[in-house]
Amino acid sequence: MIHKGRNKGEKTPEIPTIRPPSEWRSILVRLTRGCKWNRCRFCGIYPHLGVPNFSIRSIDEVKHDIDLLHILRPRGETVFFGDADPLEIGVETFCRIAEYLRSTIPVKRLTCYARVSTLLRIGPEAVKDLSRSGLNRVHLGLESGDEQVLQFHRKGQTPGMVAKVADWLKQAGIEVSFYVLLGLGGQDRWREHIAGTFNLINQTEPDFVRIRRLWLYGDGSGLPGTECPLWKEIRGGSFNPQCPEGTVQELHFLLDGLAELKTFFACDHENNYVRVAGMLKSDRQEMLAEVESFLTLSLLERNAHYTAVGSRI
Ligand code: SF4
Repeated sequence: MIHKGRNKGEKTPEIPTIRPPSEWRSILVRLTRGCKWNRCRFCGIYPHLGVPNFSIRSIDEVKHDIDLLHILRPRGETVFFGDADPLEIGVETFCRIAEYLRSTIPVKRLTCYARVSTLLRIGPEAVKDLSRSGLNRVHLGLESGDEQVLQFHRKGQTPGMVAKVADWLKQAGIEVSFYVLLGLGGQDRWREHIAGTFNLINQTEPDFVRIRRLWLYGDGSGLPGTECPLWKEIRGGSFNPQCPEGTVQELHFLLDGLAELKTFFACDHENNYVRVAGMLKSDRQEMLAEVESFLTLSLLERNAHYTAVGSRI
């Protein structure tokens, strides 16, 4: 669906609803609104933030925003395309917008979110076209490398699909950034969740692995917006949420299982109870030691820390 809401004289650009923390300095360009898939049980974040429906912006609207952003952010060097899966605008249109951007703003890095299933659908030749148009990093929601966990959460991807598109991206010279969600297997499947995840990361060797912790927002606590869809399964008894200490144990198990890869590993979100970062090749042992050191604190200190760390999207 093409959204026709805004007129061409608009003086402020539309901003993507969500961006990765690592894109905090980037110029943000919105190609699509919301998430077309919108089915992952752990997510529901676009409806929660007031974007319940998916829509595609017109190429003229997006170019108009790029012109405005060029004036507003003359020193911007990196650009992020949103929302959740901007390739849904179509590869040809995406490339035309990327080329227009590059001819307007001298950007050093162009990144976007993408769904694995969308990349699989467009195929390896289209991925090369994306690279030629100037896309040089893609943020993929891996979430888990365990097939059963992915299926339960209706992610719409398998570990095999992830491995295939990660390979295409790397072959095309596009950096791969994976997001992993601690707690996604709950208390009943956390070992499989993490083992599947480190196996897939070891197999694919992405450029970045970024860690998040599952946060069940909107539990009737008075927060505005819709609640996390996973509450339905929790109330029904089919999902048993992980405890705070369990997510730290997951982080330790993950780091322990990862090989010494040329991958930058970062807990770069405030939700993480222990925030380590470094290259797996050179810093993995040090990161493991940091997690172990946290786990040697007294129970009182650990619980105080879990309470003090805020939960946010
Ligand atoms: S996790 Fe990504 S693909 Fe799944 S519903 Fe949320 S935004 Fe959409």
